[in-house]
Amino acid sequence: MAERMLKFVATPQALPDKRPAALRRRDFEEIYADYARDKAAEQAARCSQCGVPFCQIHCPLHNNIPDWLKLTAEGRLEEAYELSAATNNFPEICGRICPQDRLCEGNCVIEKGFDSVTIGAVEKFITDTAWEQGWVQPIRPRRERPESIGIVGAGPAGLAAAEQLRRKGYRVTVYDRYDRVGGLLIYGIPNFKLDKAIVRRRETLLRQSKVEFVLNCEIGRDISFADLRARHDAVLLATGVYKARDIAAPGAGLGGIAAALDYLTAANRHGLGDAVPDFDSGALDANGKHVVVLGGGDTAMDCVRTAVRQGAKSVKCLYRRDRANMPGSQREVRHAEEEGVEFVWLTAPQTFLGQDRVSHVRAVRIHLGMPDATGRQTPQEIAGSPVNVPADLVLKALGFDAEDLPTRLGVADLGVTRRGTLAIDVKSLMTSLDGVFAAGDIVRGASLVVWAVRDGRDAAERIHSYLVTKAAAAVAIAAE
Ligand code: FAD
Ligand code: SF4
Ligand code: SF4
Repeated sequence: MAERMLKFVATPQALPDKRPAALRRRDFEEIYADYARDKAAEQAARCSQCGVPFCQIHCPLHNNIPDWLKLTAEGRLEEAYELSAATNNFPEICGRICPQDRLCEGNCVIEKGFDSVTIGAVEKFITDTAWEQGWVQPIRPRRERPESIGIVGAGPAGLAAAEQLRRKGYRVTVYDRYDRVGGLLIYGIPNFKLDKAIVRRRETLLRQSKVEFVLNCEIGRDISFADLRARHDAVLLATGVYKARDIAAPGAGLGGIAAALDYLTAANRHGLGDAVPDFDSGALDANGKHVVVLGGGDTAMDCVRTAVRQGAKSVKCLYRRDRANMPGSQREVRHAEEEGVEFVWLTAPQTFLGQDRVSHVRAVRIHLGMPDATGRQTPQEIAGSPVNVPADLVLKALGFDAEDLPTRLGVADLGVTRRGTLAIDVKSLMTSLDGVFAAGDIVRGASLVVWAVRDGRDAAERIHSYLVTKAAAAVAIAAE
């Protein structure tokens, strides 16, 4: 092993080639090329095969990273794929969009001094190769089970659960209010981070595996929650969180101020070829505009980079903390800067100026004070420091909260936490309602795709235990 691995001293870190920023700015294609086979093997061989792999500990799915890196280095890609797919339903998606600098790669032991192993890029390479080679096949369960499960939400949590439950032979139906499968993978995350074809390929595989999809169907509106429960032996709620946080500043009602997800959804729909009135009218198109994005998370990064590609005159990101304290991935910030985005750190919006439409954001400079209970330094306004930033389009990317799901679903006894997310039992992952489980952002609050996958997988296991126990109890009663 030692001969082939441990090459991190002699071999420098090399990500797949990144397209030049000048080209990236002109289209919505993904920005990284693929590794060639020998390059992936070379990079995988940098791994030092740690006895206690911190990369694996810090991956929410506890992916068996050192083993699939070793198999890749040895050219045993089919085995690497099988190992990788055993713990992750969508490795090629996580490899593309996980914030690796905060998860696996940020905790790689060779990160200090030698730059981490490029875990995400190798993970993507393994599964993209598996697709090319035809190793990714529809599920054929060993035995079919009679019970049926209804999943509300076709985002990553719902899809991961659907796949896991179908593997066990359950009949699975996924309901979504949208017209496409994928949740935020389709309508939130832009194509330049995750090509929509990658998501569609997964949808096709699930359909071929006989997972049923009922789209354009909102539970609580088109089908009542009581009906849904009557149709299925268990229900999983994986509805995500969509209530955009707002800003109550003077002028916040002016034209030209929009919620980030409305903007990104319009851009994604346009890219998918849909007619989008708000985009076609120019209201949600950044072309020729001075764009100001408020916020410092993943959504803000996606907005600024989308605006650049739409041909904005200028794109500024206003964030009240500094670079080191922003929630978004540092890698994304670097991409954005290369593409021409200007970050205005330590600045918070105070007032929106303009007649009917916004013309400027009046912002105030911020000083970071003492850390609060969460350990983060508290932003404090510096008196008398306002600046006027020109803006024709302001995008609010201030985070998301859970909508009032009990009201939307018409089930008052569905328990929620103080944050409005669904309350679940930590062991059974069941909500306050018997046979109703929950997973993903609706439990965790706005989080990450990899956590949604983890939650979906965990929920599938608990649903299986619940149904097996129930069936055994029914047999015992019948035998009495
Ligand atoms: P969602 O993906 O939100 O899916 C929920 C689904 O439920 C939706 O399709 C919705 O239509 C459906 N639904 C809701 N209510 C109903 C109902 N009543 N009836 C029927 N269907 C319903 N994470 C990363 O890891 N990396 C990133 O780069 C990244 N970028 C992001 C960029 C943006 C702009 C946003 C908003 C998020 C980003 N995230 C990223 C976070 C990630 O997308 C989410 O954490 C993840 O999608 C949550 O998965 P989910 O399945 O819980 O919910
Ligand atoms: Fe890293 Fe995400 Fe892959 Fe885990 S799933 S190994 S965190 S890229
Ligand atoms: Fe390999 Fe880094 Fe993981 Fe260690 S921490 S096993 S070097 S990838």
